[in-house]
Amino acid sequence: MQTVKELQKNQQESIYGNVTTQFEKAADLMKLDPDIRKILATTMNEVVVHFPVRMDNNRIETFTGYRVQHNSALGPFKGGLRFHPDVYIDEVRALATWMTWKSAIVGIPFGGAKGGIQIDPSKYSKEEIQRITRRFTFALGSNIGPEYDIPAPDVNTNPQIMAWILDTYFSTLPPQERHRSRHVVTGKPIESGGCPGRDKATGQGLIYIIEEWAKDNKFDLNGATYTVQGFGNVGSWAARLLKHHGAKLVAVEDITGTIINQEGIDPDELAHHTELYGGVMGFQKAIVSDHETFLSLPADIFIPAALHNQITSLSAPKLNVRLVAEGANGPTDPEGDIILREKGIDVIPDILCNSGGVIVSYFEWLQNKRSEYWELEEVDCKLHKKIVNAYNCVKNIAYEYCTDWRTAAYIVALSRLQTVYKERGIFP
Ligand code: GLU
Repeated sequence: MQTVKELQKNQQESIYGNVTTQFEKAADLMKLDPDIRKILATTMNEVVVHFPVRMDNNRIETFTGYRVQHNSALGPFKGGLRFHPDVYIDEVRALATWMTWKSAIVGIPFGGAKGGIQIDPSKYSKEEIQRITRRFTFALGSNIGPEYDIPAPDVNTNPQIMAWILDTYFSTLPPQERHRSRHVVTGKPIESGGCPGRDKATGQGLIYIIEEWAKDNKFDLNGATYTVQGFGNVGSWAARLLKHHGAKLVAVEDITGTIINQEGIDPDELAHHTELYGGVMGFQKAIVSDHETFLSLPADIFIPAALHNQITSLSAPKLNVRLVAEGANGPTDPEGDIILREKGIDVIPDILCNSGGVIVSYFEWLQNKRSEYWELEEVDCKLHKKIVNAYNCVKNIAYEYCTDWRTAAYIVALSRLQTVYKERGIFP
């Protein structure tokens, strides 16, 4: 019998296994150079830090934090920080690797990284989270930097946490160097150098992708039904933006439970509710349901926007939708992927579908470097252009190689990385 810890470890290890399976399939199909394959199959740097923090009760607790830097061939390492009890080296490795592919697919000059702290943030006060964030930033030291490795928000982290990271990083620099280093972190509050539209960017990018898919499939979003798993930043923004197309949200599940209303759930009202109560449970204008019903509920579009490994050999057979638009990182495992394909369900893979966040992070980084402020319209317009370009690139490759969109997205990323490695060669 496996202990909970062993089970947790196996699940987490399988995430990096998922990356390897996806990578090898694409590398085989495109005949990736075997030497470049070796380089991209491993991470470049893995930093693990243990640090002490004083709690509100005056006692000290120690925490473990990670930063994995997968690859920087295309630019500085880039990727979010998550605060979650499951944060573990193999998970962070997988997430860092996906960031490399994501930036390469959309053609922004970044590599891939990811990090986080193994912590359940709901168990700590705001002041404790601030001290934990600051000590983590200090422990990372020169492993992050505006031209080297740039963190951003991810699961359970937000603009406030980015502002604390910025302030702590500033404190380690001489005063005259501080303001030209604001791009050490993205996803900041607007007043601290953030970018308009960064908050909704992942959800917005996902909707631009769904619009393209709808056009290609002559599918009318007006009156379409959709379900959302996870109602955090990505899920709630995607749900709210899809409403503007006249689509109807019929079910939502998050860590607190499942709610259904075939007449439609208003995503704005639900977002207001989750802000007040921390989850979808207790929302009056829907009925309480369960995970099994959620999975098998007929709908046109399913947006998984929670954690990884949600669509598996167990859950995929139950899905009754036309499109899975992946808002989370790694929501579908390789077995789940095969089943979705066999069932004829379209899948827009995470590394394309949720790339809006890092695209707008790039815009924020650029504005900070140039001391510029862009308007929201400009940000949205540039995001639209970049993500639709990437969508078309992946579509063309899927057609050319007669393969699924995830593999096609990998081929776009791996081709760009291969070109750069071939041009530059390997030192010495
Ligand atoms: N955490 C987000 C992601 O997984 C955004 C990363 C970033 O903006 O650097 O794509």
